[in-house]
Amino acid sequence: MRVLITGAAGFLGSHLCERFLNEGYEVVGMDNFVTGNPQNLAHLAGREGFSFIRHDVSDFIFVPGKLDIVLHFASPASPNPLSPFGYPNLPIQTLKAGALGTHHSLGVARVNNARFLLASTSEIYGDPEVHPQDESYWGRVNPISPRSVYDEAKRFAESLTMAYHRFHGLNTGIVRIFNTYGPRMHIDDGRVVPNFLKQALYRQPLTVYGDGLQTRSFCYVDDLIEGIYRLVMSDEHDPVNIGNPIESTILDFARLINKLTGNPADIVFRERQRGESDPQRRRPDITRARRILGWEPQIDIEEGLRRTIPYFKEKLALS
Ligand code: NAD
Ligand code: UDP
Repeated sequence: MRVLITGAAGFLGSHLCERFLNEGYEVVGMDNFVTGNPQNLAHLAGREGFSFIRHDVSDFIFVPGKLDIVLHFASPASPNPLSPFGYPNLPIQTLKAGALGTHHSLGVARVNNARFLLASTSEIYGDPEVHPQDESYWGRVNPISPRSVYDEAKRFAESLTMAYHRFHGLNTGIVRIFNTYGPRMHIDDGRVVPNFLKQALYRQPLTVYGDGLQTRSFCYVDDLIEGIYRLVMSDEHDPVNIGNPIESTILDFARLINKLTGNPADIVFRERQRGESDPQRRRPDITRARRILGWEPQIDIEEGLRRTIPYFKEKLALS
């Protein structure tokens, strides 16, 4: 069995490559390194069954040989405009990865009659009026906000995926991923976990955007990968939320990071970076994942952060 993973050199893609290799699959990784890093795959180089193609998925995809599964994860993923890796600074690439990249990935799945999985996102719910968010909610997205390049690309990608399923009969699935963290997140991509951990490990104050009362629900990467693996193995076609339903304010999250890292510096409040498009509340309803996949997260936030901190220390060359 052979699987193509786009976005392989990114945070989630690199963990997926590892998981599928461990399950005995041949894995073809694909990436153009726009936000990912070859170092994320260095430990897999030379491993039997692993190969890599450097390629921009916005261009036509050709992979020699048969594929049984295609996982489309290539896309910038950080909303932070202060980071060069944030999608507000890669707007056209982000729209193209979600639109053209999804089209090409679906195309390669179709010629192989492969199972296809789209990495979608809680962002398709926008700044939600429904809480917690279940899969039947259609979302509240501003189509012209700086965040829309990501949100609307993913919404289009979901629509295209369902069109391939309904019109071509392709065996597709859609995972709506909620905030996930862990080793191999890009230290400078501006998402809240790398930002806070870098600041805390440098003994600097943590930058909370706005009043910090906005909420998120953080899932450890191993839990997410387990949920995704089960979804790929299922024949579910409708979207499934995968994330951790334990919700926290960003302010409480900052306090927890300072506690776990022993950071004596406090917290500073900064202007809300994304104005009204920064969702105020976010928590997945995972009833469907529980029912269809028998999945729920196992690793609580303190344990997940304890497993993540050594990676960031190593990246920052701190002991
Ligand atoms: P990441 O930035 O670490 O990984 C994305 C990878 O895709 C990078 O290696 C990047 O170089 C590659 N890429 C981007 N555009 C490409 C293109 N045109 N051609 C080839 N490669 C390209 O981000 P991540 O957190 O690993 O996210 C992976 C996927 O999961 C994304 O589709 C993202 O939207 C989705 N997602 C992630 C989260 C999360 O919390 N991590 C939440 C929701 C959705
Ligand atoms: N955030 C913050 N300080 C930071 C980075 C992010 O307060 O240094 C906030 C951000 O405004 C958002 C939340 O943390 O409300 C999560 O941000 P992230 O970029 O991780 O992703 P999002 O969940 O918004 O997609």
